[in-house]
Amino acid sequence: MKVLKFGGTSVGSSKNINNVINILENYGKSDTVVCVVSAVGGITDKLLLAGNQALNKDHNFLETYEDIVSKHFDLIKELNPSDSKTILGYVEERLRGLKSLLEGIYLINELSPKTSDKLVSYGELLSSFIIAETMKNRGLSANRKNSQELIITNSNFSKAEVDYSITNENIKDYFKTVQEDITILPGFISKSKIGEITTLGRGGSDFTAAIVAAALDVDQLEIWTDVSGMFTTNPKLVKQAYPIDKISYQEAMELSHFGAKVLYPPTVQPVLSLNIPIHIKNTLEPEAVGTIISNDETNSTAPVKGISNISNIALLTLEGSGMVGIPGFSKRLFETLSQEKINIIMITQASSEHSICLAIEAQDAEAAKVAIDAVFENEIELNKIDPIIIETGLSIIALVGDNMKNHQGISGKMFSSLGKNNINIRAIAQGASEKNITAVIGEKDVKKALNTLHEQFFEAQNKQINVFITGVGNVGERLVEQIKQQKKYLKDNLKIKLRIVGLSNSRRMIFDEHGLDLKNWKADLADSQEASLQGFFQNVKALNLRNSIFVDVTANKEISELYAQYLRESIAVVACNKIACSSDFENYKLLKRLSLKYNAPFLFETNVGAGLPIIDTLNNLVASGDKVNSIQAVLSGSLNFVFNNFNDSTKFYDIVKQAGAEGYTEPDPRIDLSGVDVARKILILARESGVEMNLEDIENSSFLSESGQKSGSVDDFYETLIQDEAHYQALYASAKANNSQLKYVAKFDNGKASVGLQEIPEGHPFYNLEGSDNIVMFYTERYPTNPMIIKGAGAGADVTASGLFADIIRLGND
Ligand code: ADP
Ligand code: ASP
Ligand code: MG
Repeated sequence: MKVLKFGGTSVGSSKNINNVINILENYGKSDTVVCVVSAVGGITDKLLLAGNQALNKDHNFLETYEDIVSKHFDLIKELNPSDSKTILGYVEERLRGLKSLLEGIYLINELSPKTSDKLVSYGELLSSFIIAETMKNRGLSANRKNSQELIITNSNFSKAEVDYSITNENIKDYFKTVQEDITILPGFISKSKIGEITTLGRGGSDFTAAIVAAALDVDQLEIWTDVSGMFTTNPKLVKQAYPIDKISYQEAMELSHFGAKVLYPPTVQPVLSLNIPIHIKNTLEPEAVGTIISNDETNSTAPVKGISNISNIALLTLEGSGMVGIPGFSKRLFETLSQEKINIIMITQASSEHSICLAIEAQDAEAAKVAIDAVFENEIELNKIDPIIIETGLSIIALVGDNMKNHQGISGKMFSSLGKNNINIRAIAQGASEKNITAVIGEKDVKKALNTLHEQFFEAQNKQINVFITGVGNVGERLVEQIKQQKKYLKDNLKIKLRIVGLSNSRRMIFDEHGLDLKNWKADLADSQEASLQGFFQNVKALNLRNSIFVDVTANKEISELYAQYLRESIAVVACNKIACSSDFENYKLLKRLSLKYNAPFLFETNVGAGLPIIDTLNNLVASGDKVNSIQAVLSGSLNFVFNNFNDSTKFYDIVKQAGAEGYTEPDPRIDLSGVDVARKILILARESGVEMNLEDIENSSFLSESGQKSGSVDDFYETLIQDEAHYQALYASAKANNSQLKYVAKFDNGKASVGLQEIPEGHPFYNLEGSDNIVMFYTERYPTNPMIIKGAGAGADVTASGLFADIIRLGND
């Protein structure tokens, strides 16, 4: 004999019911089959909705009722196109009973748990009848038996407890006499000893099937649903979740207790002691292997088997000095909740006994508070304990696995990966058997937490990085193209799934939670919503994705002022914009602090020397205990270009103009030629070496003519270059006479920094610096005389973009 159960979706459409009938017909050829069915998908909720509408004198209850009627009528007609009359006749009569019940609720303004159970029982009664009659119509040997005549409970309406001795006898007796190959039973519903209609709790059809399977001691219980087994985590919230082949009873119970809706938690209990395996199968994909729940060795050594979650949780905290060392507090607390029939999902108690914290369903919170405050009224009055504190808007997440006890560091990994993603944990509990580790977190973080934990424990090698880029000018555009080109390589070789989720220029911004399709990103961006800096931030924050990185590819001051906001949300910041790191020292320090506090890296390698690994090298030197004595560097690609091309047969003005036209200078060339840009860079290197310094502390002796330094506009400035050609030619002539090259040099020495034009003699490492190359020499305690030298292209869109890209990947490898 076989026991199968089909859930709401499985019997939710004529197509699915036809699938069910096919499966049953096949099974029925070789064995006697018992089939437990749920109400048609969504009908239990609709019945409850109609009941509540009637209770609240809301006339829409009739509309909801009509909805229920037409759903069933449609099914009957679709399933029995040529002969639906008899079934319709019976169903119409039952539905009239339902309507009278709803009208009664409307008239007397009352919906007791007892009436509510009667109301919802219609769902399973109708579905089981329709399916059995359809099978009979098709000539199959089938019959419907009302399980209320078999399953007997107490009168604990809405979640009644089964009297197994009577129930088991009833089931055994009944099935001794059954003639048909296939018996259809309505799930979920039962009767009390005095004949009242009761139900076994929401999702209880699974339980009905388990009760029947155990009473008949069958070989296997099959639960057919709308997913291909019990998944590693809720597949609706985590795309990467996958079905677990085999799982123990205990693990399945823990996962379902903590919210894996695919199995109603009490289901395991009747079959456990008889060792009857539960096979979870998918009606919509019958060939999928599904999940076997049993006591068999699973051969799996993975410590974590699954992750589950429960929404709508409230946390109750009872605390006060009067609780310490006084016996009986917990007893009174738990008794009170038990009398109120409030289910406790999780308990934690501080070892000082100073407080107890309980997680319950949010809908029970108010009743719990009233009852507990009443019971402890005296103690509260005497200030021995505080009135109970209730927090809502919470969720529970749980890691489950029999093997967790044999592995160190699981909870460490769990909490550090949640912490890295700024997920605040309100309470923690670990079962004494170490089969689960449970945490209470904010509802808004559930999806992010499940995805983070799933990645941590089930996709060990894969890390998803969610990138948000502001600024798609020259460099930004190259960055997007490089990411587009390298995506597959990163996934295949570094196991990094890099996605651009948001893009913005100064006019438009575009987002896609699942990663932008980069095929036509420019056109897509041009067609998207209007951009704003705060709007961009709000979107990044609301998406709340793990491993989020904000990338600033602008030179905009306002954007640099938003880094703190991003870091406070644990969103990493990668910037080629130099303004933040060369701003006031306090602000630079604040960003560093926030980065540490919120576990959000702040990387700005491209602030100095574009893609050259200058800052990273410096950080490594300092971190490994080296001390920087001095730095000498040529850090301006633009000034290098200018002085490498300027000589006595060219004009200074022409060279500066050419540098601008070729993209080597800022639109305002004074930023480069005044040395401010280089001063910012040496300032950043000095700070990263551990020195407190501000831009004003850097000595900057300008090589510009006096009128050049005073010019009020870009045009005026160019004019001075023409006027003062002699001044610039004199600089060149002096260098030539001294057999030297002109280089714009930045220095940091003994805590002091300076920038300025210098004549570099032959033989010096700077002498032969070509094109727009940069060079940095670090003299440190470990490199006292022969410096560590980093040299190479220090400007240009491609190398800067690749420097940003390297910072992003560095986070992926974190
Ligand atoms: P049925 O109506 O067949 O009883 P349910 O809706 O009660 O089906 O349970 C199946 C649903 O459980 C799935 O559609 C899925 O959304 C949800 N679910 C939550 N957690 C899990 C999990 N870990 N594995 C599989 N399904 C899960
Ligand atoms: N129909 C009931 C419910 O929706 C029982 C079940 O489907 O298991 O809760
Ligand atoms: Mg279910």
